Amino acid sequence: MRPSTLITTMVLSAVWGCGSPTPPNVLLIVVDTLRFDHVGCYGHVRDTSPAVDRLAAEGVRFERAYVTAPWTKPSVASMITGLYPSAHRANQLESIASESLLTLAEILRDRGYATGGVVSAQLLTAKRGFAQGFEIYREGNARGVKHVSTPGVTRKAADLLDRFAAGERPFFLFAHYFDPHYTYTDHSGIDFARAGAGRLTGDETVQELRSLLADLSQEELGFLRDLYDEEIRFTDRGVEELLSHARELGLESNTLIVLTSDHGEEFRERGWLGHTRSLYEELIRVPWIVRLPGGLGRLGGSGRSARGRILREPVSLVSLTPTILELIGIDPTGFWFQGQSLAGLILGQTDSAPGVIFAEVDYRPGDRELPIKRTHKKAILIDRFKLIRDDETGTVEVYDLEADPGERENLAPTRPELVDRLLPVLRSALERAAEGAVEGGVRKLSEEEVERLRSLGYLES
Ligand SMILES: [Zn+2]
Repeated sequence: MRPSTLITTMVLSAVWGCGSPTPPNVLLIVVDTLRFDHVGCYGHVRDTSPAVDRLAAEGVRFERAYVTAPWTKPSVASMITGLYPSAHRANQLESIASESLLTLAEILRDRGYATGGVVSAQLLTAKRGFAQGFEIYREGNARGVKHVSTPGVTRKAADLLDRFAAGERPFFLFAHYFDPHYTYTDHSGIDFARAGAGRLTGDETVQELRSLLADLSQEELGFLRDLYDEEIRFTDRGVEELLSHARELGLESNTLIVLTSDHGEEFRERGWLGHTRSLYEELIRVPWIVRLPGGLGRLGGSGRSARGRILREPVSLVSLTPTILELIGIDPTGFWFQGQSLAGLILGQTDSAPGVIFAEVDYRPGDRELPIKRTHKKAILIDRFKLIRDDETGTVEVYDLEADPGERENLAPTRPELVDRLLPVLRSALERAAEGAVEGGVRKLSEEEVERLRSLGYLES
C-alpha cells in the first residue's frame, strides 16, 4: 500500500465509520452532451440545473474537468476503464469495448456488488460491449434522437434502486441520460425557448440544421441554445426525481453519488453544430460532481461553502474509475489504470492534481463505404496552455486558456517557443496513452444502425 493510499484509507475509515458493515454504494449519473457552461453551478445565467446545483452544493465540484474524447463511445469507455481511447480502442463507430477490458462494473461485481445499468444511447448498448460487469442492463430507452428518454431512464433506475435497497449487497448503479443530445425537443412547462425563430420551428433534424449552417442567424442560433437549455432542465428534473428516490430509500448516507457528462456541444463557435469534430473547450470540458456518502458534513475541513467544495485543478475523466474505487475503500493501485485516483484531492489530503490533461479524437473507419468524416486530433492541457494538433493536416494550435478562454487567438504562429515546449509533452502523453493498447474489437454496423447513426449526426462528411 502506498503511503497516500494509507492516509486516504485512514480518512475514509473516519468518514464512513470504522467497521462500517457495508461498503458504500455507488450511483454514477452521466448526462449525455452536457456542456459545462450551460449548467447553473458552472456559471450559466439560466436556472437550467437546480438538481445538479444542489448536488454540487452538497459535494465536491471539479471546475475544470475534461473528457478524453468529444463523443459518447470513447469518452464513456475511458470513464469506466480508466484508460485513454488509444488504449481501450473503443474509439470508432464500428468498434466495441473489448471483452479484455476490465470495467468498473466488473471490478465491483467481483467485490460482491450488485450491479445495474440503464442507458439511453445506441453507442452504449450490450452489443457495443458496454454491459460488461452489469448483472442487469436496461437499454430499452436507446431509441434514437427523437425519443424523449429521461422519464424512462428515471423510472428504470428508480426500480433498480428499489431492488438494490431491498437486497443485502452494496450496489453500483449507472444511469445514463440522453435528452440534451439533439434533436431538441420543446418541453411544455419549461419556457426558455419561444415557439420558433426565423426559419426554425424546433423540429429540425441535425442534418436540416447543418444544411442551414452557413446562414443561420444569431436569432436562430439563440433559439437552438434555448431549446438545448430546455432539454437540460427537463433532464435535471429526472435527475432530481432519481436523487429524491435515493433519499427516500435512505440511501444517501451510504451512497457515493457521481455526476458528469461524456462531452459538450458546439453551436457554430467553429462553424459546426454538434460534437465529435474538435477538442475545444465547448466539447471536452464537462461538469463533474462527487457527493460523498452523507454529503460534506462528515468530511469537515477546508474549502467548503454554501456552494459546496470547488476544486480548480484541471482533471480528466480518465480518473473516474480509480477515484470511485479509492473513495469506496478499494485500492486502485492493484489495477492497470492510466488515470490516477483523485480521491486525495477530493478528501483534501493533497492539493496536487495530475499535471497534464490529454484528449484525443481518432476516427479510422473500418468500412470505407461509410461517409464518415475522418478526424485525427490530439490535445494536451498543461497549466494555462492548451495545444491541439491536427494529425491530418499537421496544424498545431496553442491557446492561453486564462487570457483567452474562448480559444480565439492561436498563439502557435507568434510563440514558437511555446510550441517547442508543448509538443514534446503531447508526444509523451500520446505514448503513455497508447501503452498496453488492447486488441480493438470491431462489429460491422447493420443497415438499421447506420440509419440511426445518421440520424444521430455521426455519419456526415
Ligand atoms: Zn454523447
